[in-house]
Amino acid sequence: MEPMDTDVIIVGAGPAGLMAARRLQEEGIRFLVLDGKARIGHPLQCGEGIREKDFVRFFGRKDYPFIRNRVTKQFFMVDDFERELPLAYLQVDRPAFEQWLAGPVKERIRLREPALSLRVGERSATVTTAKRTYRAKIVILAYGPRYRFQTELGLISREPAVGVCYGGIFSGCGIPHDRFLFAYRKGLGPGAFWAFPKGDGTANLGFGSLSTFTGSIRQAFDRMRAGIRGLEDARPVSTYGGVFPIEGPIARTYGDRALVAGDSAGFVFAFSGEGISYALRSGDLAGRAAAEAIRNGRQDAAFLKRYEAAWKRGFGGELSCGVVFREIAEAFFFRHPEHLEFLFRTPSDAELIGALDGRLPMRARIAHAALVRHGRMGSRLLRLHDRLRRNKEGKEGKALSAKKDRYI
Ligand SMILES: Cc1cc2nc3c(=O)[nH]c(=O)nc-3n(C[C@H](O)[C@H](O)[C@H](O)COP(=O)(O)OP(=O)(O)OC[C@H]3O[C@@H](n4cnc5c(N)ncnc54)[C@H](O)[C@@H]3O)c2cc1C
Repeated sequence: MEPMDTDVIIVGAGPAGLMAARRLQEEGIRFLVLDGKARIGHPLQCGEGIREKDFVRFFGRKDYPFIRNRVTKQFFMVDDFERELPLAYLQVDRPAFEQWLAGPVKERIRLREPALSLRVGERSATVTTAKRTYRAKIVILAYGPRYRFQTELGLISREPAVGVCYGGIFSGCGIPHDRFLFAYRKGLGPGAFWAFPKGDGTANLGFGSLSTFTGSIRQAFDRMRAGIRGLEDARPVSTYGGVFPIEGPIARTYGDRALVAGDSAGFVFAFSGEGISYALRSGDLAGRAAAEAIRNGRQDAAFLKRYEAAWKRGFGGELSCGVVFREIAEAFFFRHPEHLEFLFRTPSDAELIGALDGRLPMRARIAHAALVRHGRMGSRLLRLHDRLRRNKEGKEGKALSAKKDRYI
């Protein structure tokens, strides 16, 4: 069978691929979207929380039927320690959101057709599925946290580490409607439990772990849920598992005839696992870059490089903050969980909110340099910390404590 020709092939119909498709449609460029699943938005593998500010920036309003709840606070718990942050998030019905996103482009989406192979040649990019072969000028990879094609194209030299999650939609949740909860427990390992209320007694609950977590994610989830007031009797309506990238952007997000968006490019705030808004933003930028490339008759890497410059300008700083916080947490706080609460106690509201907007507090930079970048300084700090713990009650302990407070 002859290959089917188009201008742009998008691999993946998640938020990144669908935004790229919508952009190409607006720009009047021919395209096709391929996805292996049978229904847009299913199965759900997500906490469904998105920052209100990001959502409104894209879609102008927040009164869509797929928005199930609006919260104005983030609530952090580390055992008995509690901290509230004024930050508005939306709880969406993600399958319905994705179906809405797909609405204007649904004629161009081919479901049950996973891309099995990708070949980029001098004249075209060719994607093969079990049904047929597609030929295009450019391919946009937006197929989630998968990295085979990026490796084959030479954009990465190894697969990035991922975090692992387990969760689901639960009924019978007696938790406040106006806040998202993040709970940590000392000694459980590097991971967090979330409870995002939908406002009607149901909530999206989950446990997400970082790559250094050893143990059962499912058991960690059950333990955490059972220990949170209002969730003791929560019952699963549906459950999910999934992974998310935690190392930040991949080495290169463009190549000859290729652009990479969303999780496939590592675009997730590495500390919290938030990736919907970066998928939307990068999908839109990839669609724009592809449209420009088609109009200019240039699909080489040198031309497509502008996409990487655009996302770095747009949200590169935010992604760096996420990586820095995750690395500090893994290098120190999760190794010394008795101090875990200081991760949330130390920064001011402005610092925490600023970090989500890409402004890294000076002391986070210093802690990162000491703990992660310059291992020797980091190990001195850890030794200091161990001595402090041994001498907690003594005079030396107080002096060391003062010294440590200057670092952290
Ligand atoms: C458990 C969990 C909870 C999360 N919670 C949140 C949250 O609350 N808020 C938030 O902002 N982020 C959250 N995230 C992250 C967020 O879900 C992702 O960052 C986001 O979905 C990325 O969108 P995407 O379009 O890049 O990829 P995806 O949403 O993964 O979409 C990729 C699409 O590609 C398709 N595909 C896969 N392989 C192929 C192939 N070979 N050929 C064709 N198609 C293919 C898939 O079927 C899928 O439809 C969570 C992630 C997990 C795992």
